[in-house]
Amino acid sequence: MVQAQADIGSASFYAVSEKNKQLLEGFEPTVSIRTKRIGDRLEIRIKDNGNGIPPKVIDKIFQPFFTTKPTGQGTGLGLSMSYDIIKAYAGNLIVDTNEGEGAEFVIQIPVSKWFRSSCCMPSNENSNMKLRVIVLGAGFGGLEISSILSETIGNDLDLTLIDKSDSFYFGFSKLDVMFGRKSPDSVKIAYRNINKHGVRFLQETITAIEPVGKKVITDRGNYEADVLVIALGADYDLSATPGFSEGANEFYTLEGAAKLSKLIPHFIKGHAIVGVTSAPFKCPPAPSEAALLLHDYLIEKGVRKSCKISIVMPFNIPIPPSPDTSQALLTAFKERDIDFIPKHLVRAIDLARHTAILDDESEMPFDLFLGIPKHCAPEVLKNSGLLLNGWIPVDRNNLKTAFPNVYAIGDVTSVGTPKAGVFAEGAARVASASIIAEWEGDSSHSPYNGAGSCYVEFGQDLVGRVDVDFFSGPKPTGTFSEPSEELVIDKRYFGSSRAARWFGV
Ligand SMILES: Cc1cc2nc3c(=O)[nH]c(=O)nc-3n(C[C@H](O)[C@H](O)[C@H](O)COP(=O)(O)OP(=O)(O)OC[C@H]3O[C@@H](n4cnc5c(N)ncnc54)[C@H](O)[C@@H]3O)c2cc1C
Repeated sequence: MVQAQADIGSASFYAVSEKNKQLLEGFEPTVSIRTKRIGDRLEIRIKDNGNGIPPKVIDKIFQPFFTTKPTGQGTGLGLSMSYDIIKAYAGNLIVDTNEGEGAEFVIQIPVSKWFRSSCCMPSNENSNMKLRVIVLGAGFGGLEISSILSETIGNDLDLTLIDKSDSFYFGFSKLDVMFGRKSPDSVKIAYRNINKHGVRFLQETITAIEPVGKKVITDRGNYEADVLVIALGADYDLSATPGFSEGANEFYTLEGAAKLSKLIPHFIKGHAIVGVTSAPFKCPPAPSEAALLLHDYLIEKGVRKSCKISIVMPFNIPIPPSPDTSQALLTAFKERDIDFIPKHLVRAIDLARHTAILDDESEMPFDLFLGIPKHCAPEVLKNSGLLLNGWIPVDRNNLKTAFPNVYAIGDVTSVGTPKAGVFAEGAARVASASIIAEWEGDSSHSPYNGAGSCYVEFGQDLVGRVDVDFFSGPKPTGTFSEPSEELVIDKRYFGSSRAARWFGV
């Protein structure tokens, strides 16, 4: 298709340059290109104000070897090849012309075929018309979309998966690490295990993203794709909460959880606060889980009676889309004497005074602070033009960004689901369906329903589950499954099945 446009454009430029030679007063040679989507078709109009095409030759211009150019200046193949290429993509090429005034070529092509034609032009002799995809970030979303595209497109896929880290770990492993159940190294799964058809993993740090050209710059190289998938997750902005970056503890990074695993054993009396500093934050059940697991830990150490536990949360109930889950958590808090402080955020930390300052300026002294820092999009996105109000907006139906063939999935988006791995995974499925549909010249696939199941650690070695559905109905709904030993096994399977699927381990 690119060839066809180039040939038609060159015919138009030839026409205006020929007219220009006539030195007509006031004549300004002009060639314009306009593109427009009309339903499922793309229309490209290439218009010139050259000499136009005489009526007696109009029905010959798309025939091979027909040319109006002087001998030696044209093969007469450009327009006929363009016609054949456009027809091969189920399109139409028509021309509207007035002799002496100019001509307008109109290409109409199904959008899906255009995508295929433009995305699959070989970039070099060896690319063999493969679909070149770059996936930025190998977390939940990036790993899932890479797996699906590998399974579905296989030999025709040339996918580069980039992450700055050398290994993946589940978000919930941070709770295991924080309470000393597992070591940080034991929860990591090395990316070198990835062995998928058409997928290569690069451990590099992305330093710039150029969504128009679908170009990516890393600390080691420059890359270009037909399709770009941004799955960079959410980062943390410690400096947004006064006092936080001076050394307040958080359990939302593996390093933070590991640091806390060394401090928690020394907490034998006083006040522990699980404090949310800003919304949105990853895994809305995680603060409640941390409080319940801390309770168990202190019971086991025999020091619970000398310790107070509080949770500061911005919501009125722990899991707003599911009143049942929230009620079960509130009951569990009450039974364990955990103080739930709703509709508040920790605004600042005064480390010298060991005091959390809430958004109403009330003060809560603490001996142990388990913080949830303010979340933000990764720094590399700040100058990319992709962010709006801090996150990447996407079309909920297919996870497309405003830039053609650039998708965004998971925590980095503002799609409207919570920031959690299950939702990143669901978004990956929908984005891959859209990529595959367009690759196959189809445009139909199911839209994202924003549904996912979150496991909730209730302590006492029991796990509950909430199945949430954000987009199917007029408002989000959640169905609660009581904590049980079966769900402990279910959660274990959730992790092991992903590890097997993504890494073969
Ligand atoms: C304590 C805790 C418990 C959780 N429990 C659960 C749970 O039980 N269930 C659940 O579903 N979710 C849970 N989550 C949330 C879950 O971990 C995240 O929501 C999920 O990982 C988001 O997936 P993602 O693909 O959007 O991003 P991520 O998994 O965060 O992946 C983003 C990747 O991008 C990479 N990256 C970022 N910037 C760059 C750069 N410049 N260059 C190169 N690479 C870069 C990162 O290294 C990272 O690997 C929990 C989170 C926490 C903190």
